Amino acid sequence: MPTYDTVIKNGRVLDPANKTDAVCDIGINHGKIDAVGEGLETSAGGRAINAVGRWVMPGHIDTHAHVSSAGDERNVDRALGLAMLAESGTTTCLDLLGTPESLSDGIRRLGSGINVAGVMALIPHLTIPQDDPPIAMMRDVVSDALSRGAVGVKMIGGYHPFTPESTAGVVEAANEQTAWVAFHLATKDSSSTLEGLREVPDLLGEGRLHVAHVNSYCRGMILSAEQECREAFDILDEVRGQVVTESYLAQMNGTNGLCDEDGNVVANVPQNCLTARGYPTTEAGMRQALLDGYGYAQTVRDGRVILVTGQEAVDIWEAANTAASLSFPVNPASSAFTLATEQYEPEDNGAPDDAEFRIDAVSTDGGAIPRNVAIERTMALVNFGALTALNAVRKLSYNPAIMMGLINKGHFTEGADADITVVDPDSGLATMSLVAGEVIMEDGKSVANGGAWIVTAHGEKAAQESGLKYEVVDLEASQLYRGWS
Ligand SMILES: [Zn+2]
Repeated sequence: MPTYDTVIKNGRVLDPANKTDAVCDIGINHGKIDAVGEGLETSAGGRAINAVGRWVMPGHIDTHAHVSSAGDERNVDRALGLAMLAESGTTTCLDLLGTPESLSDGIRRLGSGINVAGVMALIPHLTIPQDDPPIAMMRDVVSDALSRGAVGVKMIGGYHPFTPESTAGVVEAANEQTAWVAFHLATKDSSSTLEGLREVPDLLGEGRLHVAHVNSYCRGMILSAEQECREAFDILDEVRGQVVTESYLAQMNGTNGLCDEDGNVVANVPQNCLTARGYPTTEAGMRQALLDGYGYAQTVRDGRVILVTGQEAVDIWEAANTAASLSFPVNPASSAFTLATEQYEPEDNGAPDDAEFRIDAVSTDGGAIPRNVAIERTMALVNFGALTALNAVRKLSYNPAIMMGLINKGHFTEGADADITVVDPDSGLATMSLVAGEVIMEDGKSVANGGAWIVTAHGEKAAQESGLKYEVVDLEASQLYRGWS
């Protein structure tokens, strides 16, 4: 009779890759899934985990998180997001706004046992030499980022937009090297709204791209939120097979309150937040929005990032010389719902359950921004009848693994990584998670440190030198580059 280091007993095991939805046990040996079945027994000294009444799913993979910083936002330590993600049930994340050095440093200082891949944010005069980088420069920037341990790069058009030509060059330079390339939409010719999405087919040509947080372009700034979702689906359909996508389910966004010497709000995203409620895009407008309880400031309390508003938010924003991390409740629930649940028509004779989703994954866009509600809100959609149980797991775990080419994650096939999230279906909250068979979160508390740094083969040397555990991902196996030549 085989035995196991750890057995998770009598939970509802949900594994869309293997079409499993059954109450049974999962046996883990040496950090890998060894068996899924009934009556599995622990070895001497092994651990049995009672999961009666719980859902047991492959660990949540968050394809849009913030757990490091390129140096822009200093009023909170982004590495705190590692524990915040673990506490919400995430087991792997893709960091989308830092540098390889700040990421590996954060895992060392404040790691929570979760696996982390990161891209390097492209910020002129900070992480790249100049604005509107020419493609030759971008080729060097991408290869340098990969060798330092990033899996690719991210353009943040809502804050540092490039010309359309330069934007297309970034995509091309990354594609040539099979590097991840994520884009918070907007070029100098558009804004970080549906307008930004309308540019994508032309910018992309035959290229490949991670279109970040699609919900951010469906906030009802140009058309109604529902019309914007429909148009977003049409646009993304034009580039189907070339893009990977995610959307998040929190009402709150995350932005920055920076104002210039003339008292004007600098970046496009916070300008849009103010405009959406009729505030002027000035320092006075920002102050009033915070005082009125519309805007929130991020701050740290008891080692976790929280949101505060009113005078307290104004004080934080002023103490940061306006460069504070802020949040506004600008994401309509209707867009969140539509983007999370809409599927393509099923294939001939296919069950609706098997049809592909319009948007690949549910992300948090959280981490150190306190809105790590991907699991909780996806469970609310299940309880509302908008997603089946297996489809919820597809959006949270299976699809994100496919997106990133994490072929040993997102499913419970024998030999897969024992990364597991256990969820209470009534509260919708994750109650336990394991990474490589080790418990990293229990009852909503982070109980581990460290974590594996996910790099490409080009970053292996940097990963070794970091002293961290690491894993190498082959992005040729990712959905982003599948079929790419
Ligand atoms: Zn983000």
